[in-house]
Amino acid sequence: MQPGRAIIQFRHCGKDVYCFRVPDLCPACHGPLSFRNLDEAPISIATPLVHGHQQQCVFLLRPTLGTFLRDYDGNADLHVGITNTHGIVYNYNEQGVQRDEVGWEQSISIPLLQPNMFGLMDQWDKYLEEFSATDDWSPSRYEEHRHNCYTYALTFINYILTAEGKHQLDKDEFTEKFVVPRTRRASKYITLYRAIEEGGFYVIDRLDSDTNLL
Ligand SMILES: [Zn+2]
Repeated sequence: MQPGRAIIQFRHCGKDVYCFRVPDLCPACHGPLSFRNLDEAPISIATPLVHGHQQQCVFLLRPTLGTFLRDYDGNADLHVGITNTHGIVYNYNEQGVQRDEVGWEQSISIPLLQPNMFGLMDQWDKYLEEFSATDDWSPSRYEEHRHNCYTYALTFINYILTAEGKHQLDKDEFTEKFVVPRTRRASKYITLYRAIEEGGFYVIDRLDSDTNLL
């Protein structure tokens, strides 16, 4: 599994064109592509989906089944986890705490550590391992709606927030503030990605693009 291909955007004949590879002729006007200034030159769009095993100390989301780019429909169940400093993803399910070394290659990532918290980063793996070893996260305690992957990740996040001297977050607050903006942006990105996969490119009028596709 891979994070997916990079989406490239360029401007031509009053349009914004999205594609995986810059073609020789413009898909909108069929004229040869020349870029008159930097504003028109191709750029790659920042993807909201990252290789989770290359992320340190982050909260990750991915579809419980399948991948974002291929399978996600905006409503599917999401599974969540926390990476240690080696990109191993700790996550809780009906079999207890899992320590995944593969499977999170297409994830939404939310950083959990402030850049200046080096002391906490040194202790991170130990904290995460100790936290995960408690009885709270045994297979028998798992309940799909009340004591699940979310409960596990959020309890750990609150443990870290407390260590940082910050106030704790409840599930609604965390979801509204951090999760929803990112899943919303990912949904738009996935729609665009699939449109390019299907048609080879995706074109919108520059006027419309003021609404900012991504
Ligand atoms: Zn054109």
